[in-house]
This record gives sequence, C-alpha cells and structure tokens, in this order.
Amino acid sequence: MNKSYTKEETIDDFNIKYKKHIFSKSIKVTLKNDSSILVTMPVFCPYKTAKDFLLKNFEKIQNFNFNKNFLTPNLKTKFDTLKIVKSNNLKIQTLKNIVYFYYPENKDFNSKEIQENLKEAYKKALKIEAKNYLPQRLNYLAKKYNFSFNKIAIKNQKTRFGSCSFQNNINLNIKLMEYDFEIIDYVLIHELVHTKIKNHSQNFWLEVEKYCPNYKELRKKLKQK
Ligand SMILES: [Zn+2]
Repeated sequence: MNKSYTKEETIDDFNIKYKKHIFSKSIKVTLKNDSSILVTMPVFCPYKTAKDFLLKNFEKIQNFNFNKNFLTPNLKTKFDTLKIVKSNNLKIQTLKNIVYFYYPENKDFNSKEIQENLKEAYKKALKIEAKNYLPQRLNYLAKKYNFSFNKIAIKNQKTRFGSCSFQNNINLNIKLMEYDFEIIDYVLIHELVHTKIKNHSQNFWLEVEKYCPNYKELRKKLKQK
C-alpha cells in the first residue's frame, strides 16, 4: 500500500478516506470504530466513481452508523439523569429518578457487554427525562397558543417522533430528548396544530409557521440526525 494513493474528505461530518489498493478488485466501504469511513478501491478506479458509489449507499451507512456508534463514559443526557460511575462490577441502578451505570474500570469500554448495558441505562434515563419534560412542555405550549388536547403518551417508537389521533391524543417519542429544545418545541407545536388540522395541507404549515417561524430549518435538522 502506498500512502500517495490516498485521498481524504469530509461528507456530512463523516471523515472519508479513499485508499487505492493493488489487490482490490472492487470498491469496498468500511465503517471504522471511530466513525470514519474507509473506501478501498482498485488502483485504476477514478475517485469520482468511488465517491458516487459511496453517496449512493450513504443513507444505509449512516443508519448503520447510528446503531454501531460506540457510547463513551462521557455520555450525557439533557438533564443529567444518567450517571456513569467506575466500580467493581457492571450494574444499572435507578434511585430517585437518576439512573446509575456502574462499570468495571479494567474492562474494555467498547466491549459488547458494557455497550449493551449502557445503551439500556441510557434509554432508561431518556425515558425518565421524556416523562418529566414533554408533558409539562406540551401543556405549557398548549396554554400559550390556545390549543387543547385529550391525552398524552410517551412511547419508544421506531419511526415517528410524534403523532396526534382523531381523538386528539398526542403520542411523543422518548428519542426526542436527544434533540435540541428548539427542535422538541417544533414537534410539540406540529402535533398541537394537528388537534385543529389533521392533514399536512398548506394551511397546516402556515399555522405551524405562526408559532414556529423557523420550522423548515428545524424539520431538516430532525431528519438529518
Ligand atoms: Zn404531522
């Protein structure tokens, strides 16, 4: 392998390294543990071809990355509900609405055991925060802008951040707690406007814009993560 055959660039916060390899017969994309992307390619393959291939598969890689991302001991939630503490053994304990994650110092933090347990502790902490924050914030915004809804439920949904039923029951996703307050407000306003307008017509968006003037930008950010 020759260093002069490499090229680097950044796409969407991903550090991409292209490497031409004498033994390489096709373009191969590998996601590294540090979240950088390695693209190996045959020597005679133009960089442009490799980049096109990468971009075509980028969404798949990003999704994969989301699941594969390693959590670190610095992991934080909005209201510090998760405490990560060095200890003799691995343990998750919830005390007075704080989730404590104890981990053995001598073990590799990226090991499957630590990562899976930490993910579980993290989800517990997000859920506690969602249940504390989202209902009171929804009530606050409803009062402020004169909306009324029936019931609110906090769920761990896979695909949607929020929904509003025909009975004006509002469902919100605990994953919202991973986003900025501004973005959370946009989702809450979106669902509150659905209590009056059930579709996504032009009128709907005009109403959203009244309470959330930069909703387009926030919507984009919500989709990106
Ligand atoms: Zn909607």
